[in-house]
Amino acid sequence: MPDSRPLPSVGELRRALDAGELSSVEITEASLERAESIDGSLRAFTGMRSEGARGDAAASDARRVEGKGLSSIDGIPVAIKDNMVMEGEPTTCASRILEGFVSPYTGTAVGKLRAAGAVIVGRTNLDEFAMGSSTEHSCFGATRNPWDLDRAPGGSSGGSAAAVAAGIVPAALGSDTGGSIRQPAAHCGVLGIKPTYGLVSRWGLVAFASSLDQIGVFARDASDAALLLGAIAGHDERDSTSIPEPVPDYRAAQTGDVSDLVIGLPREYFVSDGVDAGVLDAVRAAVAVLEAAGAKVREVSLPHTRYAVATYYLIATAEASSNLARYDGVRYGRRADDPSGLSDMYHRTRSEGFGDEVKRRIMLGTYVLSAGYYDAYYRKAQQVRGLLARDFQGAFRLCDVIATPTCPETAFRLGEKTGDPLAMYLGDIYTVSANLAGIPGVSIPCGQSSGLPVGLQLLGGTLAESTLLRVADAYQRLTDHHEARPTAV
Ligand code: GLN
Repeated sequence: MPDSRPLPSVGELRRALDAGELSSVEITEASLERAESIDGSLRAFTGMRSEGARGDAAASDARRVEGKGLSSIDGIPVAIKDNMVMEGEPTTCASRILEGFVSPYTGTAVGKLRAAGAVIVGRTNLDEFAMGSSTEHSCFGATRNPWDLDRAPGGSSGGSAAAVAAGIVPAALGSDTGGSIRQPAAHCGVLGIKPTYGLVSRWGLVAFASSLDQIGVFARDASDAALLLGAIAGHDERDSTSIPEPVPDYRAAQTGDVSDLVIGLPREYFVSDGVDAGVLDAVRAAVAVLEAAGAKVREVSLPHTRYAVATYYLIATAEASSNLARYDGVRYGRRADDPSGLSDMYHRTRSEGFGDEVKRRIMLGTYVLSAGYYDAYYRKAQQVRGLLARDFQGAFRLCDVIATPTCPETAFRLGEKTGDPLAMYLGDIYTVSANLAGIPGVSIPCGQSSGLPVGLQLLGGTLAESTLLRVADAYQRLTDHHEARPTAV
């Protein structure tokens, strides 16, 4: 067994820093040591930033001594998903095609974290270009679930989720195009929030499906998530889809009170068919806790739910095929050796550089955008996307927050779904609609089924992050599911 100890929450580290009990250098060393002792078996990281992190931690300590701390996350170690660029650091997207790429600039969200004094300790593993639900489609090999090393952590931000669950870092950034923050958060027993599309700048996030991608946060609890989200959110003129609104104080909104809220339960999500009974029980019990705290609960309907997965996989693959055209062996990363000509260079660079799942999506996306099929697939999917968004608008006239399971089941075994892509895609049923509608969602631990964590998903209307994090925090004040720690590391 490793002798390193898991790091506590951001809030607890903050208190220790403020009380002078710990320095940022000591906390950062503890984070690096924890990674050193367990990441050989977990593989949550694609690369550590040990020297850079030590330097940043020392600078943070110097600021604190002078009473010039930058923010409440100054000196706190954080990990970033390896699809966000940082100047002078590699960005791999867990793809061979980006081998050797070093970023010339820092993206907005990572830059804001650094400006707030957070210490970036490393880059976390993911499904190649964020395409997947298990972190098995990575050129570095699969990340493992800290609750059971034979199981997947979920994906595509499985490295960030596992790193927070295992206590290597108290918080991490991920990206969510169809569930890639919420689903691994659920499978690893941590909190994960995907904000409203446009709340966090996508500048410096490697594009998968640009109309769906959004950066968000993993943390142990809702008060930590409020601090981190507050640090990375806000308007950015370098992202034309960024929302020009001031960022509220998410922490101040966490009053513990939910008595003014109506929670909607979508009829279409609470079907026993294909959903683990233990998952449904845990989610229903969580809703009962909020009801006992004064929230009203009612049924709502999201009638187009059954089209969500198909719609998502048409739009996401179409956008991916366009976004990934830029990896041609000329502009970024790795080029095939000794090509016999230009076409051979393109062909071999892409066939050797991309993994199977990415190739599958480029082919699907090229097909749905092709002249003869555009109307039948892509245009139709955009129309259904409008209907899904309208479903939510209708539901949010009747309730403030929608509660659902995050996933139909708990963490599955490594290899269980890699041979059956459709089975893997169907697991995204509860998460993809929020991205298609652009609305925020958070997954919080709400108990276990057969010893594995279950996630409660809360969805809100556009820019309802304050409300979501208030409900999540109120729930965590009343329960201790977020305190449960994985036993396999
Ligand atoms: N699992 C979904 C997919 O494979 C979502 C991925 C994501 O959110 N990046 O596309």
